[in-house]
Amino acid sequence: MSEDIKAVFLGGGSEVGKLGLVLEIEDIRLLLDYGISPTKPPSYPMEAPPVDLALLTHAHLDHCGMFPYLVKEQDVPIWTTDLTREVSNILHIDSLKVAKVEGYAYPYDKVDVKEAYHRVIPIKPFETRPIGDLDLKTYPAGHIPGSLMFKIENSSRSILFSGDINTIDTRLLLGTKPVKCDILFLEGTYSGRDHPDRKELEKEFIDTIDEVVSKGGIAIIPVFAVSRSQEIAMILSNSGFDVWMDGMGEKIAKIFLRYPRYLRSEKNLRKALSRVRMVKTSQNRKHALKGEVILTTSGMLDGGPVLWYIEKLRKDPKSAILLTGYQVEGTNGRQLLDKGSLDFYGVSQKVECQVYYFDFSAHAGHKELVNFAKGCSPEKVVLFHSDNREPLAEDLKDFAEVIIPENGKPFNL
Ligand SMILES: [Zn+2]
Repeated sequence: MSEDIKAVFLGGGSEVGKLGLVLEIEDIRLLLDYGISPTKPPSYPMEAPPVDLALLTHAHLDHCGMFPYLVKEQDVPIWTTDLTREVSNILHIDSLKVAKVEGYAYPYDKVDVKEAYHRVIPIKPFETRPIGDLDLKTYPAGHIPGSLMFKIENSSRSILFSGDINTIDTRLLLGTKPVKCDILFLEGTYSGRDHPDRKELEKEFIDTIDEVVSKGGIAIIPVFAVSRSQEIAMILSNSGFDVWMDGMGEKIAKIFLRYPRYLRSEKNLRKALSRVRMVKTSQNRKHALKGEVILTTSGMLDGGPVLWYIEKLRKDPKSAILLTGYQVEGTNGRQLLDKGSLDFYGVSQKVECQVYYFDFSAHAGHKELVNFAKGCSPEKVVLFHSDNREPLAEDLKDFAEVIIPENGKPFNL
């Protein structure tokens, strides 16, 4: 790669959401991730130019949400893991349903979703595959099951694209490790923010549920369907609580179990799931309200069964809502944290339950990002996927040139 490498973010440079990166190396044009921001209404990245190949890091809508649109517009293969293919497909179908219910137009339909599925050529972690004169190598990203980092290289330079990463071990996954490279594209979601210790956080979480339950309340735990619901089920596995699980988490868990190579422990996930009771019918929902813990989607309270449960319990100050992920600005969960109220199917109502927030992030915190970058020993770091890249840039510039690109503005490397 003696000549320039050209790059442009179609989205997701200066924000967390709708990511898309175009890389042009030796006449090969690659698209890395192509997502939407699943806000209401959704927001989309810029139009992708014709590309030779698309690479997908993982099955979160802000990374995978636009792939059906991509294959509708152009004939392009997609390389990602078999697990990411399965989970993305479910998310695509679900987002079409949400769009229909909410009444907004969507840029693709069921046929395109099917096409995106069939366009995938599965790739495994630690696999090397040629792209023309370039080499691609994959590494597990530690973010969610099936997530990858991509290393692209030729004889002179190498690029590592992190996608979303986590470097600490969780119940579900082992953390990722640095990979030597010349140019590092690094996500910066938690630039300037650190996470609490995971073990202590888990203990505090269980203690809080214990307190709620011992006072006769119910602990409602809103979770993201992909990864968070399974991790929380594993944390609750030995707690002895009467736990009910509702929403898309069970379906995703079953897919994870079909691809055990991506899990830290298939056995522990199976055990955890055998200890929760699955809600299958409306009668089950009523039973769950007589239990102790309800684990349900959606994680930011913007839909899913969680609203049904909270509506039933919202006047009960003994019950509690334990948020398990970051609540993005403009979501129902953010409104609950800031104002103590929730939007129930168009009507805003006060919630008298206790509200807690536990930082079970799937992203590396600031300190971990700095250590990861150091371990990669790059000459240049390109920061993306963050609305606040400066604190991270400040700590990285001691050992690398830091680039902070804007969406839609091409840059050379
Ligand atoms: Zn992600």
